[in-house]
Amino acid sequence: MEVRRTEVGEHIKGGGIGAFYLICGIVSLISSIAFFALLPVVAIIIVVIGIWGVCSGITLISHGGARKAVCPYCQHEITILEKAKTHKCEHCKKVSTRIDNYLETIE
Ligand SMILES: [Zn+2]
Repeated sequence: MEVRRTEVGEHIKGGGIGAFYLICGIVSLISSIAFFALLPVVAIIIVVIGIWGVCSGITLISHGGARKAVCPYCQHEITILEKAKTHKCEHCKKVSTRIDNYLETIE
């Protein structure tokens, strides 16, 4: 099968925004403790947002940010991590590989 490739686009998220997510996540988790006694449902929502913030913050920092790209399989716009060698498309679930400034199909 022929290899298809798409160009990797601009930097959309850097390590700085990762630190911002991380701090917001931690603040949400701490403030949710106060809500548990009063509004448990609200507290759970804040915890979910907080965990999401911490996870995406750590991911962005450890991978040096994210870039916009186009999936070489389905042509959907996707977000890839800067240092990731491969990426699994969230639309078609196929794995592409990053070669320099391009995403290439593997199969
Ligand atoms: Zn795809």
